[in-house]
Amino acid sequence: MFKCDKCGLCCRNIGKSEFYKELDRGDGVCRYLRGNLCGIYESRPILCRVDEGYEAFFKSAMSKEEYYALNYKICEKLKNNKKL
Ligand code: SF4
Ligand code: SF4
Repeated sequence: MFKCDKCGLCCRNIGKSEFYKELDRGDGVCRYLRGNLCGIYESRPILCRVDEGYEAFFKSAMSKEEYYALNYKICEKLKNNKKL
């Protein structure tokens, strides 16, 4: 299972990805973010669902371990305020 510490940084940086532009409230932050948590968690888009996103888009390209590792790398970059 993917380990997320609920820092909310990915949801505060959606402006860095074209795929999330529908969610952007205008400043790169998701319109559904409430505090550090998702206000529509149960119905959030598939792009926000780590495991379901893997099954739908990345399964044929890499292993689950590789996919998690890539995701952890992005979390780390966000936490260290590094460019994605
Ligand atoms: S940046 Fe990573 S650890 Fe932080 S909320 Fe997003 S997925 Fe979780
Ligand atoms: S919909 Fe929820 S999980 Fe997805 S970016 Fe917005 S706040 Fe984050």
